[in-house]
Amino acid sequence: MNIALLPGDGIGPEIMAEAEKVIDLFVAEGEPIKTQTALVGGAAVEVYDDPLPDDTLQLCLASSAVLFGAIGGPQYDTLPRPKRPERGLLRLRKAMDLFANLRPAKVYDALADSSTLKKEVVAGLDMMIVRELTGDIYFGEPRGIHTNEQGLRVGVNTMTYDENEIKRVAHWGFQAAQKRRGMLCSVDKMNVLECTQLWRDVVMEVAREYPDVTLTHMLVDNAAMQLIRRPQQFDVIVTGNLFGDILSDEASMLTGSIGLLPSASLNQSGQGLFEPIHGSAPDIAGQGIANPLAQILSLAMLFRYSLKREDLADRVEFAVEEVINQGMRTKDIAKAGERILSTSAMGDAVVAALKNNN
Ligand code: NAD
Repeated sequence: MNIALLPGDGIGPEIMAEAEKVIDLFVAEGEPIKTQTALVGGAAVEVYDDPLPDDTLQLCLASSAVLFGAIGGPQYDTLPRPKRPERGLLRLRKAMDLFANLRPAKVYDALADSSTLKKEVVAGLDMMIVRELTGDIYFGEPRGIHTNEQGLRVGVNTMTYDENEIKRVAHWGFQAAQKRRGMLCSVDKMNVLECTQLWRDVVMEVAREYPDVTLTHMLVDNAAMQLIRRPQQFDVIVTGNLFGDILSDEASMLTGSIGLLPSASLNQSGQGLFEPIHGSAPDIAGQGIANPLAQILSLAMLFRYSLKREDLADRVEFAVEEVINQGMRTKDIAKAGERILSTSAMGDAVVAALKNNN
């Protein structure tokens, strides 16, 4: 189990240090985990003048999985585009061919009133969106803005998927459902978009390989409504890049706590990059108050999806749930009057819960 650690910028190194405490505990228990740390983003620009130095890229390609912190910061916003921190992440995603993006959204009972929706609507929510990440209208050709024969400006983008692109992400959707409650909802717009008619056809073909998963279909406009109306009906949603971009942000807001949400981006062989959905939070960096749980839950996903260690993933997720239920809070999830833990104390609490439950 070789894990590349890329802490990045801002709060990245602070929250990565807490995930490392969890790894250290498993190593002490005898797990054959090896880690190597490398620079990425603004931190790499400062040393190598490149947000994704070749050493970092090679380390990631050779690893079983990458645990990524966060990148970016106002001091890098004026750099020329190829040197911007986010370019490093985009290049890394492309080099690793990470085409499936998995974003869970879970509402912990003790935090159900943090959502902007009514508690009874979101209580018990535990779902995941599997979004295709490398195709669709974001990459389709032709694209651009041109002037037509009448002298009018015309904007064009092309929604396109070939069946192999649909097939491979559909497999991740079914496999994610197998690891959860066995329900997969494929979201499309087949009533008006031929491209998504193919999406539906191919997902139905792939379904024959997963008789243990219940497949349903939903049009994207209805899915956007159902996520707000009755989100608990969903287990796993699989959808294309454009619809997934919008629905995954909608789903994450149901939980009301950005510091708690992990994500995974996976390639064909199961190698993946695991990161919190939040950014580098420069407004709180260096203060020791960032919530490390999204980073720690990203490590849990890494164990589950790349290293196939469900047991370690379950233990980490259980420990996180336990500390939340015990009332442990970092500043971002604390209500008035609640005791506030530092980043480091929250990491220690998770490690203590892991030790107790072993
Ligand atoms: P952000 O997610 O960094 O922060 C949004 C708000 O949430 C801030 O108030 C921040 O303090 C808070 N927050 C985020 N994570 C938190 C945590 N773990 N604990 C407590 N509070 C937390 O988004 P932003 O402010 O729009 O972007 C800041 C920088 O991050 C930018 O440079 C942006 O480009 C970058 N960014 C990087 C990634 C990534 O690394 N994948 C993703 C999004 C944004």
